[in-house]
Amino acid sequence: KEEEIGKCGSRIMVFVRVRPMNKKEKELNSRCCVRIVNQRDVYLTEFANENDYLRLNRVKGRHFTFDGSFTDSASQLQVYATTTSDLVEAVLQGRNGSVFCYGATGAGKTYTMLGTVENPGVMVLAIKDLFGKIRQRSCDGSHVVHLSYLEVYNETVRDLLCPGRPLVLREDKQGIVAAGLTQYRASSADEVMTLLQQGNRNRTTEPTRVNETSSRSHAILQVVVEYRVRDATTMSIVNRVGKLSLIDLAGSERALATDQRTLRSLEGANINRSLLALSSCINALVEGKKHIPYRNSKLTQLLKDSLGGICNTVMIANISPSSLSFGETQNTVHWADRAKEI
Ligand code: ADP
Ligand code: MG
Repeated sequence: KEEEIGKCGSRIMVFVRVRPMNKKEKELNSRCCVRIVNQRDVYLTEFANENDYLRLNRVKGRHFTFDGSFTDSASQLQVYATTTSDLVEAVLQGRNGSVFCYGATGAGKTYTMLGTVENPGVMVLAIKDLFGKIRQRSCDGSHVVHLSYLEVYNETVRDLLCPGRPLVLREDKQGIVAAGLTQYRASSADEVMTLLQQGNRNRTTEPTRVNETSSRSHAILQVVVEYRVRDATTMSIVNRVGKLSLIDLAGSERALATDQRTLRSLEGANINRSLLALSSCINALVEGKKHIPYRNSKLTQLLKDSLGGICNTVMIANISPSSLSFGETQNTVHWADRAKEI
């Protein structure tokens, strides 16, 4: 069993989730350009320009295959069970794992991660499952669960559970940590939805759109489980720690437009350094490079122990089905296809 998890941790598991068409997309009579077959295969169709009558019926298609793909009718629970429940099990064995939602603004990342009160997402379902599993296995009550919820916005790290001054990243024996970050000791799953919704409201908003979370804000929920076990060989009691990171990434639309250029030449431009750095790290991991440029951004520093190496990483690429977003959908799917190779 141990070996199995180790093997699966040697690469990223990549999933695609299509959201339902929204009101605007329906009103504009946009066409559906995503088809999912066998819960794995994604077919993208590029329709010719709707005003170009000569070419109206000419379509271009492309096919991709992932570890799993979800149609617009997949439930939150299905998405959780397929993508994340194994990672919760691994965390209870003292391993690290992470789940990222990647995609353009409006593609369904926050819905997948946080969800709503009626339809809670991966973050809430993972914590619920975690407490259920702990209850099942610990008669001695030795598990301690801590939550932290933080934001990376414009290369500034903020505590979403206790908003205030920016946090400084420090290196300690456990890796890179945000100094002074609230470690909320959770005792049940019920309190968590409220806590996370509050936290989400603390995410940075654009001055022009005060009710909307900025598309450049990354939110990271970290769940740390500590417990004691008796070591089988020495028979002494040891502490084990497992960490699950759940990440609602910034909108990918800006980063993709500039993907080819180097970070340095983009200094000061209106781009998302953390998202680009994440892409660079993934590229370096794909290419099997020795040096992975984690130091390039706050996000990649914080997630150094959750990418590559012996950890379980899951990517959920969120896309819209509408031909209006074809370009973004195509970029997201290509990005996901690349991440698959790690
Ligand atoms: P993002 O965080 O990627 O910008 P959101 O998660 O906020 O996008 O999704 C945009 C809108 O679409 C929201 O109103 C959300 O509730 C809705 N939505 C997204 N995915 C789904 C889904 N799978 N089922 C139903 N509604 C969804
Ligand atoms: Mg969002």
